[in-house]
Amino acid sequence: MRPELWTALAAGSPLLSYFLGRLGRWAGFAAGAGLFAFASFELRGEIVSGAPYGALAFWVAAALAHSLLLNGSAGDPPDRSRLGKAQERASRLESELALVRTEATVNAAGEKKSLAVYSAVKLLSETIDPPAAAKQLGKYLADYFGTAEAALYLASGQGSGAELFAQGGKASSLPPYSAMTVGGFPQAPVSVSGVTLAPVAAGGDVLGLLAVRGGPEGAESAGRFALEIAFALKRVMLFRQVEWLSLTDGLTGLWRRGALDEKVREEIRRAAAFKSTMGFMIADIDHFKRLNDTYGHQFGDAVLRRVAELLRSGVYETDFVGRYGGEEFGIVLPRAEPAGLLRKAESIRARIEAEPFSQGLERVRLTVSIGIAHFPRDGRTPEELIGRADAALYAAKEGGRNRVLDAGGL
Ligand code: GH3
Ligand code: MG
Ligand code: MG
Repeated sequence: MRPELWTALAAGSPLLSYFLGRLGRWAGFAAGAGLFAFASFELRGEIVSGAPYGALAFWVAAALAHSLLLNGSAGDPPDRSRLGKAQERASRLESELALVRTEATVNAAGEKKSLAVYSAVKLLSETIDPPAAAKQLGKYLADYFGTAEAALYLASGQGSGAELFAQGGKASSLPPYSAMTVGGFPQAPVSVSGVTLAPVAAGGDVLGLLAVRGGPEGAESAGRFALEIAFALKRVMLFRQVEWLSLTDGLTGLWRRGALDEKVREEIRRAAAFKSTMGFMIADIDHFKRLNDTYGHQFGDAVLRRVAELLRSGVYETDFVGRYGGEEFGIVLPRAEPAGLLRKAESIRARIEAEPFSQGLERVRLTVSIGIAHFPRDGRTPEELIGRADAALYAAKEGGRNRVLDAGGL
């Protein structure tokens, strides 16, 4: 071969080192260096003076060294410790992320609960319409207890009676209140066959009972909710009591005139909507002034109370008995037919006539006159209907008292 070719090969040997070095840098370096040595050997007769060859050798040595650097650690085994550290770091970050995620979920759940309690307390503190508040409270109960079923019962009157006030979730599947309070009212949250019962009490008064079935936190959660709403709930119960008192007559416990008029209005609306009927009667005690004058006001009051009892027990539970004022009473009888209405009025009249009102050893007798009117026969508005019953009562008094008169026959 010609010397120029060997010179070119010698100069190009670092390229072999570089490209072969991609697979293994030392193998590439050895091949490059070997090629240079072999070419140098072939050129040995041509190398006359040191200067040009020295420059070539210097260039090749530098280029070979550079190829070693360029190929870096290619082909070296991977650095296990660095990989391990990176993996460790990645998994640490992953678990941190998971922690942040659960914290966010827990915070969101806690916030929902706080909001539910706060809303419930605000609702109960401000409401002037307990039935509407009860409905809304059911939603807050559902928010607070999540998947659980929850119901709030209010203690009513004396003894262990109670009524369902609000419910969240499918509280209908909770056992009846009476079954839950067997063995007395709990003083602190207790768990009875999967249902947590938490008393709601304020200022020593037991106001009601919170019943929760299921849910993760049970007793503690129910107890906290009961504690939070207690004072606001007390306000609702006082409100209801005042409202009730203003609707009912203090002497007899019957509905007052305004409340009874409202019942007449309601029942007429209902009867009209369902193509049904209703009856209304006014009963007035005969010669009551005389009785008062003879036996005194106190006895008169006792008589009024007893007459109220007789009226109430003489009609259906679903009928409404009110005191229209003085010794006058009104009765609303939903779904009554004219014939039935007349029969009922007659039986009431007879019952009062037969009652021996006792004053000391004396037995006092008294009678009532009754006027009746029927919807839709005698009138279509409350004013018309009450007016017709009043006219019938007036006619009964005119006719000699102690009798029933039907507006339909006037
Ligand atoms: P009539 O047969 O026409 O109905 O005669 P009456 O005496 O029953 O009717 P009148 O309206 O003249 O008198 C009603 C009396 O009822 C007058 C009043 O003294 C008495 N009264 C009204 N409210 C009460 C009350 O709350 N307690 C008592 N004890 N008496 C009352
Ligand atoms: Mg009278
Ligand atoms: Mg009267």
